Amino acid sequence: MSVFTNEEKVQILSDVVEIESVNDHEKDVAEYLQKLFNKHDIQSEIISVNDSDSRANLVAEIGSGSPVLGVSGHMDVVTTGDLDSWNYEPFKLTEDDEGRLHGRGAADMKSGTVALALALIEIKEAGTLKQGTIRFMATAGEEITSAGAKDLYEKGYMDDVDALLIAEPSQDGLVYTHKGTMDIRVTSKGKSAHSSMPELGFNAINPLADFIHYLNKAYSEVDVKSDVLGTPTMNGTVINGGDQVNSIPDRAEALFNMRTIPEYDNKRFESLFNDVKDQVEETKGVDLTVEPYVNRDPISTTGDSDFIKMTQSLAESHFNRSFDLTSTTATTDASFLMKDKDEQFGFIMFGPGESGQAHQVDEYVSKDVYTQFVDFYTQLFSKYLNQ
Ligand SMILES: [Zn+2]
Repeated sequence: MSVFTNEEKVQILSDVVEIESVNDHEKDVAEYLQKLFNKHDIQSEIISVNDSDSRANLVAEIGSGSPVLGVSGHMDVVTTGDLDSWNYEPFKLTEDDEGRLHGRGAADMKSGTVALALALIEIKEAGTLKQGTIRFMATAGEEITSAGAKDLYEKGYMDDVDALLIAEPSQDGLVYTHKGTMDIRVTSKGKSAHSSMPELGFNAINPLADFIHYLNKAYSEVDVKSDVLGTPTMNGTVINGGDQVNSIPDRAEALFNMRTIPEYDNKRFESLFNDVKDQVEETKGVDLTVEPYVNRDPISTTGDSDFIKMTQSLAESHFNRSFDLTSTTATTDASFLMKDKDEQFGFIMFGPGESGQAHQVDEYVSKDVYTQFVDFYTQLFSKYLNQ
């Protein structure tokens, strides 16, 4: 007997979608889930992130001892974007004629996070876990910097974890590897002066222009490729400098976004930027700063762990279709949670929702797929730990 009917599963997801945790207020989601866990005697802990009053992670556990299976999802969602282009209210879960549930976070990834929580309760109430621990980790801030996951990693919550499942939307494939991401700010400092007397100042724009030119040139010679993830990418996406046409600008900055692979990772990009900085600073008076402000590593695992094999075969029988092992260009909390894990580690990203639905207007998850995932997780987690 299940604890939750499908209607109750949808109602709980609906409650969580109504909490507007747009890059903040994850604590409200954590408190909602904690109340739910309390009803079923599951211990949990709300852990504030960066001393915030409104941002927090939630960790809950059932079972005891090893092995430890980590299951994780984030509680934040991205902004709605242009509200006029939505056909549904973003923060009210609405079912359409085809059984699709629409709302911000329906796919990315409140359905996944809630499905994990409900599976934990189902397993606890059924008493099916014979050994080991399931550690549920719901995070804050995934969509921007993974601040919540970084905090859990630093506090040691991953130290004893033997396998990790992240329930990001990926209902059509089992993801075992993904790209990293990195944002770097390059700032050029100069000295302002009237443009009729430029010799009294130092123009901050010129070194930045040189920097961009040399960087693109150096990067054009980079020739690396991962068989699975393809090539890394680097793009200058924002540039700012100066505020008045007849003033010498004292500051200019450019922002760059990179998508990284294990063969050309975040550290490698950082040293590329620093090499180019050194090159441009050979000119007298140039003062550049290179500051990586988002830094999430790529994830590389071999994809043939026991956990992945078991997930694949159970998914194929449960959903009655075949599933490929695959990769994604997106980045997840695994960038921090997996920091100390090696290639053999059993990592899998598999959750309700099509990956293409993330961040979309009228975002949705299929009601059937969502409810089936609760049952799937319930079976998988105890099967993996009981073996
Ligand atoms: Zn996500």
